[in-house]
Amino acid sequence: RAKEDGRGTHRFFEREMDQQVQRRREMELDLRRAFASSEFELYYQPLVEIASDKISGFEALLRWPHPGKGMISPAEFIPLAEEMGLIGPLGEWVLREACKEAVKWPLEIKVAVNLSPVQFRSRNLVQVVISALANSGLAPKRLELEITESVFLAETEANLAILHQLRELGVSISLDDFGTGYSSLSYLRSFPFDKIKIDRSFVKDLAKRSDCGAIVRAISGLGRSLNITTTAEGVETTEQLDWLRAEGCNEVQGFLFSGARPAAEVEQLLFRFGAMASRAA
Ligand code: C2E
Ligand code: MG
Ligand code: MG
Ligand code: MG
Repeated sequence: RAKEDGRGTHRFFEREMDQQVQRRREMELDLRRAFASSEFELYYQPLVEIASDKISGFEALLRWPHPGKGMISPAEFIPLAEEMGLIGPLGEWVLREACKEAVKWPLEIKVAVNLSPVQFRSRNLVQVVISALANSGLAPKRLELEITESVFLAETEANLAILHQLRELGVSISLDDFGTGYSSLSYLRSFPFDKIKIDRSFVKDLAKRSDCGAIVRAISGLGRSLNITTTAEGVETTEQLDWLRAEGCNEVQGFLFSGARPAAEVEQLLFRFGAMASRAA
């Protein structure tokens, strides 16, 4: 009996596994099809400078409006795209598209693009960035590349060399999701980052948890002493904004201002935040 039960359970798990493998295979095919038929879109979320209360740039965020399943989050499909080797071409498309859009904007503000650590493995990343800038005509100083600490987990020396080459092009480099990786402080010493983006998880409980407040305060202070811009992610309340302003954080990004919006709405956002009006005056 027990033996039979065991075998039954075993078969049950095998079936489950088969289904998982099957689902994954379907999602892979779906991703390839979506890429081939240009189904992906870039949305843009404003970065707001605290001191001036003006939009200083937009972060490009990938969206997959799936024909049958609705909007799929990048958190769901980027890890798979990385595993199946699609992140190279997809990331290249993101770079080219973001640069092409940004040159159309009515103000010479920055566009931030997220890079996957896997894109550093391909070894032609610098060439791709040079080509995206040249083809779009975007000034290098308007492009900001966001990387995470995971870029340094392997191939540290090679990846640092790539970062230096990128920076020599005149683009700026931000450290995204700061505080969630490993031993981040040593990276700050090994590379001159232009910006640190404080992870949303610390901003979320700023007012509620004193440890989060202490961490955000420490990162802001660190940025100030090292002359690195600090940006707080996931700012949703005026309470958080006031707190961040008082602690000398430079920039905010979050639903309090706006979520990520389609490219066609960028100009409207610039008007809404007075960025256009004040610069015309
Ligand atoms: P991220 O780079 O840290 O981007 C910020 C994420 O926080 C975005 O999620 C954004 O929509 C969300 N967010 C912004 N403000 C708020 C807020 O006030 N509250 C809350 N709850 N969330 C907020 P999204 O667009 O789903 O992207 C998730 C992650 O996927 C990004 O995190 C980034 O790591 C990755 N990603 C997005 N686009 C790309 C891309 O083109 N290439 C690569 N390699 N990764 C990308
Ligand atoms: Mg980012
Ligand atoms: Mg981030
Ligand atoms: Mg984040």
